[in-house]
Amino acid sequence: MFIKDENVFFHELDIHDIVDATVILDIDGTLTCSSKKQIKKEVIKVVRELEKKNVVYIFSNNYNGNRSREIAASINIPYIEAPHKKPNKKILKYIDETCLVIAIGDKYLTDGLFAQFAKAQHIRVKRYRCSDDSMMDKVACFVDDVAYVIAKFLHIATT
Ligand SMILES: [Mg+2]
Repeated sequence: MFIKDENVFFHELDIHDIVDATVILDIDGTLTCSSKKQIKKEVIKVVRELEKKNVVYIFSNNYNGNRSREIAASINIPYIEAPHKKPNKKILKYIDETCLVIAIGDKYLTDGLFAQFAKAQHIRVKRYRCSDDSMMDKVACFVDDVAYVIAKFLHIATT
């Protein structure tokens, strides 16, 4: 699968080419650290820009659904109420999707594979990290990074 690996943080993304798409934003590591709820102004600015020419949704695999909904509400972006987790493409059944779906996120095994299964595009962003992030989360991120390197090595994921 092709992954657009931007190697920049979400707020540094060049989004000019993203037009007429259904954009699904990940939360943890993508819009903020997994230990934070507050979304920084520069992040919100990019979300607002995306909204001008696209339909934007938020979806997170975080076990704390209330936190995810709270974050989505705080920046006025609809949260996808799906009883599934990424990479399950059934998540798309819960929204009105356009023909072009773009998943923006920091993880290969969730955001990347979701995009692959849904025949969508994946934009991989550099992960926001904070010292308060849980050890479990740090391990999950490490495992994901290793999986991504292996996938690239095996040419499963190409950038
Ligand atoms: Mg994430």
